[in-house]
Amino acid sequence: MSHDVDVIVIGGGPAGSTAARLLAVWGHRALLLTRPAPGPPLAESLTPSCARLLEQIGVLAAVNGAGFVRSTGHTVRWGTADDRVERFAGGTCGWQVSRDAFDRVLLNQAKVGGALVHRHASVRDVTHDGQRHVVQYEERGHTRIARASWVVDASGRTGFTSRQGSARRILGPRTTAIVGLWEQRPSWGLADESHTFVESYRGGWAWSVPLSRIRRQVTVMLDPSRTELASGRRLRQTYREELARTDLMRRITPDARFIGSVWARDATSYECASSAGVRLLAVGDAASFVDPLSSFGVKKALASGWLGAVAVHSALTEPAMEQAAVDFYVARQLAMMTGLRRQFAVLAGEAREAHPAGFWDDRAGRDADADLNEPDIGALRTDTAVRAAFDAIRERECLQLASVPGVEREQRPAVAGNRVVLTEHLIVPGQSLPLRFVRNVDLVVLARLAPSCDDVPQLFDAYVRAAAPVALPDFISALAVLVAKGVLRFA
Ligand SMILES: Cc1cc2nc3c(=O)[nH]c(=O)nc-3n(C[C@H](O)[C@H](O)[C@H](O)COP(=O)(O)OP(=O)(O)OC[C@H]3O[C@@H](n4cnc5c(N)ncnc54)[C@H](O)[C@@H]3O)c2cc1C
Repeated sequence: MSHDVDVIVIGGGPAGSTAARLLAVWGHRALLLTRPAPGPPLAESLTPSCARLLEQIGVLAAVNGAGFVRSTGHTVRWGTADDRVERFAGGTCGWQVSRDAFDRVLLNQAKVGGALVHRHASVRDVTHDGQRHVVQYEERGHTRIARASWVVDASGRTGFTSRQGSARRILGPRTTAIVGLWEQRPSWGLADESHTFVESYRGGWAWSVPLSRIRRQVTVMLDPSRTELASGRRLRQTYREELARTDLMRRITPDARFIGSVWARDATSYECASSAGVRLLAVGDAASFVDPLSSFGVKKALASGWLGAVAVHSALTEPAMEQAAVDFYVARQLAMMTGLRRQFAVLAGEAREAHPAGFWDDRAGRDADADLNEPDIGALRTDTAVRAAFDAIRERECLQLASVPGVEREQRPAVAGNRVVLTEHLIVPGQSLPLRFVRNVDLVVLARLAPSCDDVPQLFDAYVRAAAPVALPDFISALAVLVAKGVLRFA
C-alpha cells in the first residue's frame, strides 16, 4: 500500500506530533511516520510556560490528564555555595515527564486530530520526482513508499534530511549526558520533592528530575573528551566519580538505591545551516539543539512544530504566500535558537566564575552577543528610556498622547491565527527590525488608538475591544515602548 498525501511528517516526538496534529486539524492529509525512540526514556522537565502552547495545539487537557508529577519550581546551586529555591511565578506548575509516556500522549492526540500515524515506520530515503517528495520507509520488514507535496523533518537529533546532505550542521562543544535512576523509600525527604535539582560543578553540571514520589533520574552533563570516558573507561565508574564531585546531587543520593544500569546520551548542541529546503521544513531538534539546561527543548520543539505547521498550512492554502511563509519560519526558528543560546551563555558565564575550568571555559562567552534577528524584547524592557516612559505613563492622570509624524509603516509577515500573512509593521527609529507585537500587544493598533483616548483605563478598554485581551502590565510596557521609541509623544 502506498500513501499520497499533502504532508509527510518524519518523527513522532513533540515537534512531529504537533505539526501532524495541527495540519490534520486544519484540513490537510497528514501522514506521520515514526519509530520508537532508542534507549531508555529521559525524565524531562517542562516549565509552566509550555501551557499556552499545549493549549494552542489542543493537547493541554490530555497532558494534564496523564498523571505526570507537577513541579512547583527548581532548587538550584549554580556557581554559588548555597541552594536557591526558585518557585514558578504565580503558583503555576510545570510537568516532570518520562518522555516515552509524554510522547505517547502527543502521538495519540495527533491521531485524534486526524493524522495518519504509523508508529513502526523507519524512514530510509527522501527524494523528489520533480513534482512530489517520495519517501521510502521500512515498516515491520516491508519497504513502502509515500508521496507528498511537503515533508516536515521532525526526526530529532537524527536530523534525517540534514544527514541526506540538505543542510550542514554546526556543532557546539561536545556534551554527553550520563543518566541513572534512583529510588528512595518512603520518600526523598527533600523540602520540595516536585523540584528539579540543578547544580553546576567543575566538570560540568548535574540535575535530578522526579518521576514519582520515590523515583528520580539523576544526570551529569560533561565533556567526554575531558573525562576518562574518552579512554573507554566504564560508564558507571565515570558516573559515580562525577556524582562524587557534585555537592547537591551527592547530598541527595547517598541513602537512595540505584536501579538498573547507567546509560549515556549525546547532548551536544548544534544547528543546521538552514531549517528549510524545497517544500521541506526541519522542525524541533531536527533543525537545532540547544543545551538542555534551559529546560526549553520540548517547548522549542512544540513551538517549532506549531510554526512549521502554520508555514506549511499557509503555503498549501495560499501558494502565493509560500516563500514569505518559509522565510518567516526560518527567521523565527533562528531567533528562537539564538535567544536560547544567549541565555545559556549567561548561565555558563556564572558557572565559570565559580569553576574556572575547561568545561565552562569552552562554553562561557560563546554566543553572548549572537544577533537575535528579531526585536529583543528583554532588552526593550530594561531600556532606560522605556522604563522612564513606563513610569511617566503610570503617573499621568491624563495621557494626552499624539502621533509623531514621519513614522513609517511596512508590510511584513506575521502569524494571524494559523496563517502567515503580510501585515503592517512599524519602522521604529533606532530599532533595527520592524515591530508589530511586544508581549502580545499589537503596537500598530495601540499606536492608532492612543491619540483618541484620555487615560490608560479608556485606552486599555478600547484596545481590548479592538484587538484581544492582554495583561495590563504588558499593555503599559508596550505603550512605553511606543513613547520611548518616538512613535507617540505626550502632547
Ligand atoms: C540529556 C537530555 C536532557 C534533556 N532534558 C530536557 C528537559 O528537561 N526539558 C526539555 O524541555 N527538554 C529537554 N531535552 C531536550 C528535548 O529532549 C528535545 O529538545 C526534544 O525531545 C525535541 O523534540 P523533537 O520532537 O524535535 O525530537 P525528538 O523528541 O528527538 O523526536 C524525534 C523522533 O523521530 C523519530 N525518528 C528519528 N529518525 C527517524 C526515522 N528515520 N524514521 C522515523 N522516525 C524517526 C525518533 O524515534 C523520535 O521519536 C533534553 C535533551 C537531552 C539530550
